[in-house]
Amino acid sequence: METEDKDKIYRFLFDKANIRGEIASLSDVWQTMQSNHDYPKIIRQYLGEMVAASVLLSATLKFEGSLTIQASGDGAITLMVIECRNDFGVRGVAKYQQPLLDEILNEQPDESELKVLLGDGTLIITIEQSKTKERYQGIVALEGNSMSDFLEGYLERSEQLETRIFLASDENTVGGLLLQQLPGQIEDDDSWERVTHLASTIKSEELLGLGAKEILHRLYHEEDVRVFDPEPIYFKCSCTRDKVTNMLRSISHDEASAIIKEQGNISVDCEFCGETYQFDEIDIAGIYSKNSQPSDLSTKH
Ligand SMILES: [Zn+2]
Repeated sequence: METEDKDKIYRFLFDKANIRGEIASLSDVWQTMQSNHDYPKIIRQYLGEMVAASVLLSATLKFEGSLTIQASGDGAITLMVIECRNDFGVRGVAKYQQPLLDEILNEQPDESELKVLLGDGTLIITIEQSKTKERYQGIVALEGNSMSDFLEGYLERSEQLETRIFLASDENTVGGLLLQQLPGQIEDDDSWERVTHLASTIKSEELLGLGAKEILHRLYHEEDVRVFDPEPIYFKCSCTRDKVTNMLRSISHDEASAIIKEQGNISVDCEFCGETYQFDEIDIAGIYSKNSQPSDLSTKH
């Protein structure tokens, strides 16, 4: 891939067809996201696809805020969560049960679709506005097999807009392509079918290996496409000592004191970025003193 397209998102428009699109590619950012974890290959693949998806969906945020995609189930993958801000600061984590994962992969190596690994579960999309803390949350059952299936179904129901999403992921790179039919008059009736059919010919290797302009040329050199300047994607963890402090309040003073007695201090690792926050006896006394108020109760870590 051309280095200028690394960790970038491009938006484009088919003006006559009223179709909008995006191509996102993450490499350094994706590697940073995995650096504190030793994810098995299959987990990396599905988490990576979700990272690409969350960046693509965040491009529609029209205010300062974030979009979070959370998939959880009773299967080998218990949780995957990715948060992406309106300016494409992204972070995420996956949790899984290794024995169950090994069992599934041994028994049915060819059927290790995301739906199988998640089991019965839900996909939750949360959009939060930074200033007002206003939240919109949509919850859907996991219908289909893949992350793009889940999200296409969700978008069709929630926004009534036909959307196609193509995702690819390996340990070095993740890539995604999104197409969405916008409301309004269309001069060319077959355009949606033609544009999405061409998109469906894209191979994972191409999404991962080609630059955005090469992909657009390869698919749409016969169409009228307007491509906008790309925007950078970066790794952003929003953890702070304040948020961890608020989280610590969920355990009792007695429990906290017991841990201090046993271990000398309380150490909390951020599961997104690996940052360690340490609290000693004096910190804990301060947190539980009567005058101490949570600094920001509305923020969930
Ligand atoms: Zn963090």
